[in-house]
Amino acid sequence: MLQESNLKQVFGTPKCMKKDFRFTYCPGCDHGVATRLVAELIDEFGLKEKTISSTCVGCSVFLYNFIDIDCIEAPHGRACASATGVKRAQPDKFVFTYQGDGDFASIGLAESMHTALRGEKITSICINNTTYGMTGGQLGPTSIMGQRTTTSPNGRNKEYYGYPIKVAEQIALCDGTAYSARVALDTVAHINQAKQALKKAFEVQLNGLGFGFVEILSSCPTNWKMSPEQAHERVREEMIPVFPLGVFKDVTAEGGNK
Ligand code: SF4
Repeated sequence: MLQESNLKQVFGTPKCMKKDFRFTYCPGCDHGVATRLVAELIDEFGLKEKTISSTCVGCSVFLYNFIDIDCIEAPHGRACASATGVKRAQPDKFVFTYQGDGDFASIGLAESMHTALRGEKITSICINNTTYGMTGGQLGPTSIMGQRTTTSPNGRNKEYYGYPIKVAEQIALCDGTAYSARVALDTVAHINQAKQALKKAFEVQLNGLGFGFVEILSSCPTNWKMSPEQAHERVREEMIPVFPLGVFKDVTAEGGNK
């Protein structure tokens, strides 16, 4: 029989998480996984005392309730602009944004693109769940063709709504971008890849190389009206074919820009 003194903890809450936090994301939402990955990396890089996050409006804003770091809540879509000011004023800090697709790629598209074009030395994380989650599941910039939402009840069509934006590819086209990747959280293998991509996006900032970006394909079981398992199936079967996973730019890769 195992003695208590022989027990070794192999899994626990990241140290930088608040002691009494309780996730307020919906059950089965991938935001919790993404938040945990960010917290693990803050621990692993020893960044807790020098990190400032810039969140926005939407489900992603609650990051400040869970990770015990300095946080700014930016106006809707302006997280990259706020983060730019913070980083320029305090270049020794580690600064990241945590945003939804509606915030990063629609309401804040100009701020996001120009932050990448300026090569601001920050890290941006965009949670792509193809809808506006907090406000009730409206059509977002990444809603896929045919997707029914509260504002596209007959499904997205090109004549009325146009096409979804492929954010990681667009950010990769900006000269100031040092790293741009798209990952998913639907399987353990994909979660491990997501952590590696986030680590790389942290490193390009820490090495002063430019803008680091990771788009995370994420589930929204509530607005998709699915179980968590069904939602992950949708990520696999409907989202990944439209938004392929991969690294679209990495200035540290052999041969420079990838
Ligand atoms: Fe997650 Fe969607 Fe709930 Fe927001 S509304 S917390 S994105 S499941």
